[in-house]
Formats: sequence, structure tokens, C-alpha cells
Amino acid sequence: MAEHFVPENLPTHIQHFINGKFVDSVKGATFDVLDPVTNQNYATAAAGQKEDIDAAVAAAREAFVNGPWPKMKPRERARILNKIADAVEAQEGRLAEMETFDTGLPITQAKGQALRAAENFRFFADLIVAQFDDAMKVPGSQINYVNRKPIGVAGLITPWNTPFMLESWKLAPALATGNTVVLKPAEFTPLSASLWADIFTEAGVPAGVFNLVNGLGEEAGDALVKHPDVPLISFTGETTTGKTIFRNAAENLKGMSMELGGKSPCVIFADADLDAALDSALFGVFSLNGERCTAGSRILVERPVYDQFCERFAARAKTIVVGDPHDPKTQVGALVHPEHFKKVASYVEIGKTEGRLLAGGGRPEGLEEGNYIAPTVFADVKPDARIFQEEIFGPVVAITPFDTEAEALELANNTKYGLAAYIWTQDLTRAHNFAQNTEAGMVWLNSHNVRDLRTPFGGVKSSGLGHEGGYRSIDFYTDQQAVHITL
Ligand code: NAD
Repeated sequence: MAEHFVPENLPTHIQHFINGKFVDSVKGATFDVLDPVTNQNYATAAAGQKEDIDAAVAAAREAFVNGPWPKMKPRERARILNKIADAVEAQEGRLAEMETFDTGLPITQAKGQALRAAENFRFFADLIVAQFDDAMKVPGSQINYVNRKPIGVAGLITPWNTPFMLESWKLAPALATGNTVVLKPAEFTPLSASLWADIFTEAGVPAGVFNLVNGLGEEAGDALVKHPDVPLISFTGETTTGKTIFRNAAENLKGMSMELGGKSPCVIFADADLDAALDSALFGVFSLNGERCTAGSRILVERPVYDQFCERFAARAKTIVVGDPHDPKTQVGALVHPEHFKKVASYVEIGKTEGRLLAGGGRPEGLEEGNYIAPTVFADVKPDARIFQEEIFGPVVAITPFDTEAEALELANNTKYGLAAYIWTQDLTRAHNFAQNTEAGMVWLNSHNVRDLRTPFGGVKSSGLGHEGGYRSIDFYTDQQAVHITL
């Protein structure tokens, strides 16, 4: 294998950050962290247990009850959030290097993720300054108004696919609204989360407001979910994990936001701008190594353009550059972890019995080590196939033909998931009606997966509960108390 880039000053040990200090686990437990290109351990990380979660929650609770953060004027808090955004932007190159090293995401795409993280902080800084609350009057008899209040300690549990950006998506609104937090990042990728500690401290976030506990989901994550002093859990991850967390949080009746898995359809009608649809469909399933919750991993194509589409799509998939994530030419890097690699590789084998293999089908030539899978395309996939129904979370796509709009809709909705959908047609009446009838939290019509931070983000069916984004995040992280006055 060619020489592999290793960022400078890579830590060999990753700690928790509790009450303004980097610390190890009370019981000294650690777990190994792997580099996805060599699959060698490059660091150990403190493995949080119940005692560590207890300490982090106690610090966050103290900072909430007695600290300045929840009482700060929105403008004051917004200034600190903007400093965080500046710091993230200023370190964008370094953050991207670290993220790429830890996750295997292509470096060019990791850079975009760091910038999005900064944007999340700026966006919520703006929102809290512009926020006003309702007042309702009954002339001459009553006035009612709303007190919006931070809730307390928010537990934030995040996945490994775009760790730093997804953490920012929860940290920014939770902190902007005056809560204090305990973050439990994914155990496959703890590196970039540890960078938040210095960024927050330097920007002026008081000790105890941001706490980080690394560790396994079943230990650290579980303790956070069950902690009685944590009234909110914002979770992003797999649907099965979401169900477990939902059950475990029930005892304490917590506020829950659940961003879960997906198997999103990309529906291409014969009248579509086929060049644009092709570009978008390739990006939709192969960017971020296919490890994208909103990946368009089922492509449904109207029969008259089906053969042409399959041929062109497969030809393009074969030209995608797979390789070292740090190489700027790389378009698909290494999957995050050997366990995940095994899962994706097993779906590739299943796919060979369920569809017609048009591209990929295993390791790319010349990459015998590391978690590399060639962009893999299966055509003629039936709706009852496992590769049509199950989230693979890798560079693997199922293509299926349809003959009528009704059939396309039935196929689009024929999974337990309902996160995103992409629709390509020149017929705008059909586009809007189809969007309306698609069981998906987010629909992109003739367009790419581009986010507007004001819009709701979330899924339906097994893809999630609740929405975040814009004022919906503010609603999730605040209580709205009604005050009634008789005039
Ligand atoms: P995962 O569910 O395995 O883990 C997510 C987090 O939950 C990790 O931090 C893990 O340690 C923790 N966890 C695991 N078991 C737990 C438990 N019993 N109690 C508390 N915490 C626990 O998910 P993953 O493999 O890290 O991420 C991939 C999944 O995330 C995919 O299904 C993907 O679609 C989904 N995802 C969804 C969105 C979205 O916005 N809808 C975004 C990104 C990823």
C-alpha cells in the first residue's frame, strides 16, 4: 500500500472532558480506536461507565442551576456561538484531516462537513437573537404570553458517519437555547469530538456547560439515556438502537428526538433531465462513502429510459476514484471500521443473488487492505429483495424499473423507512403530487441533497420521531410556559 498520510500531533489517547477538564474514566477503562485504512489501533479512548456519566451530568446540572449560561442574554450567548463558528472555520483544514483519518471519508468532503459545522453555530446564534415569543390578547379581559426556557441537561448521542458535523447539529441549538450538555459520540470515531473542548473553552463557554463522555453505546450511552437528571435525549443512529433508547428513556419520560436510518428512493421519470438526474443519483449514493442517512440507495427508473440509465450509471460508477481518503482525487474512501466493512461486503454478496451486477461487486483492484468497497450497482432488483429493503450504509445501490406513476409511488413507499426522497421529472404537477404522497420526511424535487437550515429535518415511519432544524430545534430544546393575566 502507498504511504498513508497521518495528521501531525495525532493523540495516542483520547479523554473525556468533564467540568472543564480532560479526564480518564473513574475505573480507568479504555477502548481501542482504529484507523480505517490500515485497521491498526492508533489510539485508546477512555471508555465511559455509569460513574463517568454521573460525574458529567452532575457538572452539567450544576452549570445549569447555578452557572451563568442559561441566564445569559441571547446576544451574549450568540457572541460566544459566533466565536465557536470562527474557530471551527479557522481550523477547517486540521479538522478535516482529523475527521478523514478517523472516519475514512474523502478529504474534499470532510472539508465541507467542517464548514457546515461552523454554519450550524452561526445559524442558531442568529435565531436566538431574532427569537420572539407569542403574546395573545383578549382585549379588555386577558393577556397571555409565553416564557421560553431552557430545559436542563441535554444528552446528545451521535453516530460515526459525519461525526463532527452531526455533533454540531445538536450542540449548536442545545447550547444556543441555554441548556448544558453531555455529548456521547460514536465509539468508532471519537477523535474530532475531543476537539470541541478547546474550541468551546477558548470561545468563553463556562466550565460544566459542555461535557463529553466517550465510550460504548451499551455502557456510556445507556447510562446517559437512563439518567434521571437528563430530561432530553437527542439521538442520531440506527433504527434498532433508537427503539432500545426509546424504551430505556420511558421510565423518566424524557423529551426525545430521533434521527434514524433510511433507504431513500430516487425516482426518475422518463421526461427527466437525465444528465442532471444521473449526476445527482451518483452523488446521492456514493458521496460520503455511501455512509449517508439520506443516501438515495434505491433508484427507481421509468421503463423507457431504464436500460439507458442503467448503462450510463454503471459506466460512471466504474470511473469513481476509490482510494486513500487523504488524497484529494479520492471520491470514495475507506469504510469506517472492519465490522462495518464486513456488513457492507455481506450485502454485496447477497446482492449478487438478488440483482444483476453492473459495477463493483467487492474490493477495488489494487486495494487489498483497508475497508475499501468498489461502488457497486445492482439492476433489476425486486422490491422484496433484502438490498431493496435494508439499509446498507455503504456504496451499494439497487436499481428497479417501473411502468406507471402509481407503481413508482408504491415502490417508493415500499420500505419501513421514510427519511428522504428524490424525484426527477419535468412535469411539475406530477412532481408536487408525488412529493405529497411520498412517505418521506424530506423530498428533493429535481435537486440535490442540499440543506436549508431553516427547514425541518427528520424522518417518518422507522426513520425517526420529531423534527429538528430552524425553530423546530429551538422548540425541542426549550419549554414553553404559558402565563395568563386577567386585565
Ligand atoms: P448506532 O445506532 O450504532 O450508534 C449511534 C450512537 O448510539 C453511538 O454513539 C452509539 O454508541 C450509541 N448507542 C448504541 N447503543 C446504545 C444504547 N443502548 N444506548 C444509548 N446509546 C447507544 O448508529 P451508527 O452505526 O453509529 O450510525 C449509523 C446509523 O445512523 C445509520 O442507520 C444512519 O442512517 C443513521 N443516521 C441517521 C441520520 C439522520 O439524521 N436520520 C444521520 C446520520 C446517521
